[in-house]
Amino acid sequence: MNDSPKAEAPPPAAATDFIRQIVIGDLKSGKHTSVCTRFPPEPNGYLHIGHAKSICLNFGIARDFGGVCNLRFDDTNPVKEDVEYVDSIQEDVRWLGFEWKGDPLYASDYFDRLHQFAVELIRKGKAYVCHLTAEQIRAYRGTLTEPGRNSPYRDRSVEENLELLEQMRRGELEEGECVLRAKIDMASGNLNMRDPVIYRIKKADHHRTGNKWCIYPTYDFAHGQSDAIEGITHSICTLEFEDHRPLYDWFLDQLDVPCHPRQIEFARLNLNYTVLSKRKLLQLVRDGHVDGWDDPRMPTIAGYRRRGYTPESIRNFCDRIGVAKANSTVDVAMLEHAIREDLNKRAPRAMAVLKPLRVVIDNYPDGQVEELEAINNPEDPAAGSRNVPFSKVLYIEQDDFRETPPPKYFRLSPGKEVRLRYAYFITCRSLVKDPQTGEVIEVRCTYDPATRGGDAPDGRKVKSTLHWVSAPHAVDAQVRLYDRLFAAEFPDREENFLNALNPGSLEILQGCKLEPSLATRQPGDRVQFERQGYFSVDAKLSKPGALVFNRIVGLKDTWAKIEKRGG
Ligand code: ATP
Ligand code: MG
Repeated sequence: MNDSPKAEAPPPAAATDFIRQIVIGDLKSGKHTSVCTRFPPEPNGYLHIGHAKSICLNFGIARDFGGVCNLRFDDTNPVKEDVEYVDSIQEDVRWLGFEWKGDPLYASDYFDRLHQFAVELIRKGKAYVCHLTAEQIRAYRGTLTEPGRNSPYRDRSVEENLELLEQMRRGELEEGECVLRAKIDMASGNLNMRDPVIYRIKKADHHRTGNKWCIYPTYDFAHGQSDAIEGITHSICTLEFEDHRPLYDWFLDQLDVPCHPRQIEFARLNLNYTVLSKRKLLQLVRDGHVDGWDDPRMPTIAGYRRRGYTPESIRNFCDRIGVAKANSTVDVAMLEHAIREDLNKRAPRAMAVLKPLRVVIDNYPDGQVEELEAINNPEDPAAGSRNVPFSKVLYIEQDDFRETPPPKYFRLSPGKEVRLRYAYFITCRSLVKDPQTGEVIEVRCTYDPATRGGDAPDGRKVKSTLHWVSAPHAVDAQVRLYDRLFAAEFPDREENFLNALNPGSLEILQGCKLEPSLATRQPGDRVQFERQGYFSVDAKLSKPGALVFNRIVGLKDTWAKIEKRGG
């Protein structure tokens, strides 16, 4: 066996995507002897499931090839960034199960070096201070079919440019008055190469550098140079940066940098019924459409965590969707499938009645209580069993009773017999109705004592098994049923994505009746409520004695069906 995990070859399944193929090639050819990737979030919002894909890819490659993945905050825009986001991002990456080496890194730590790089470009005659307004710069840039025009400030002398950059840096010039631009080619077929802006004046305090700077580098100028400073070997980003790659390479070619990382682009994750733009997620939070970034309906890592998703399920999902070169949309049912599959193996089962209907068993002795054995997890024999109390008065689900059953309705109705899980067969004998509303408020039944445990000695069958909770032993709880946040499959295609919000995305049920073993569940615990779905104790709202459960996902697996059909 290989006792040096660092040099170990990647597991075959992990070596299949095109980026890992590139990495393998670079290690084989000797271009690199070790691998260094980075995950570079901008701290202007919480991480979402799209970021999870990028995290699994970057940290996963480092793990598979015994390398390192840096967490680097891309904090070059002081106006939108905040420490709350810096903290949440670290928590989320750790929760997903990944570690970076040492402290997190910050692009802002390189502001001095980036400024020196700008000076170096000017000295080489490759950058100039331009006094055109933003609007003029746009007009001069040309279009895809027409070349741009040179700025009248393009041929300033090196000395003048150095002096102007210094004035910008010292705060002597106003925001918008001028910018520093790279001097590349105004006729380039790639618009990004038409003298892009690399530094702008922003008189704003930065969350780390305070008021030290009033000029800030653009993403394009900061990113590649930060990669080079850190010795990144493979700089993996999403497809929209493909057109920026020539610029990424151009800067690194001009400047005296320690290495020249390779930028590789992959398709970002898109999910139907979901928005994954931080700007839009921020709008949902700010305008109160959801209850914060960690609202269990949000596609943020914090939201999934609070909802009850496991890190394993999210990692499995990311592995399964793969890494491609072409954009596509993933069915959100696949994510739901991943959590169901994980919890099916490990979530203990319990009985909970969400919309209770009282059942009285007329022939059951008053005051008698039996402890019936219930299996904790049929998928995991080691999980063992527990006792659930049974008594004369029970609750069943309102939906499990119909006074006038439609065809093929096999649950409880007048004269019909059903099985109570782990207990007895019962037969409905009569109803009690609310005299005012006519609503059925109680069902009166008899039970067959010979069917204890759930089978009739005479071999008679019933078509339905219901879950139930003993009324005097029941624990009251609030249960929050979540549905998709958006009703439209592609909310981004709507004129206003807010119009696509699903008004029924949260249903709050009070007075749900849980079996007593659930009373001691702790925040974050996950269980399957039999026949209903997987639920977790809400870490924010739940209190001892006033439990609050979130529905993580229902039991019906639409993705499994899609797969069976063959897509
Ligand atoms: P958004 O468009 O949601 O605002 P962003 O790309 O501006 O996202 P960053 O904080 O810059 O957000 O992203 C950090 C990293 O995560 C980048 O490398 C980016 O390419 C990647 N990333 C962002 N969104 C996705 C996604 N949907 N799928 C895969 N990777 C993503
Ligand atoms: Mg970004």
